[in-house]
Amino acid sequence: MTGHQKTPEGTAVSRRAGANVRRLRRRAGMTAAQLAQEMTALGMPISTQNVTRLETGVSGSGGHPAMSVDLLIAFAAVLQVGPEVLLAEPACWQCSDLPPEGFACRACGAEG
Ligand SMILES: [Zn+2]
Repeated sequence: MTGHQKTPEGTAVSRRAGANVRRLRRRAGMTAAQLAQEMTALGMPISTQNVTRLETGVSGSGGHPAMSVDLLIAFAAVLQVGPEVLLAEPACWQCSDLPPEGFACRACGAEG
């Protein structure tokens, strides 16, 4: 394999895992920077920017990491849940348990 291969936007599962990371991080009252620090302390160095990218599933132009199994396990350890929790379907079909910042979900009432 040569050169940079173009990859598709995250898969449905990796996007869901990212959304779950964000939801659990917010619930734990952690900032993305704190989560990045905890990940790094655990031996999985990651920047705050890449945490945010993984959470939102936004594909960066700077070759940011995709959600890997290693990252998933480290996120789960920091957030103190089992890895399967990060793979679970969100309970709310409308906001994926993740309303936008500053908005409340009309379906489940969760606040972003
Ligand atoms: Zn909702």
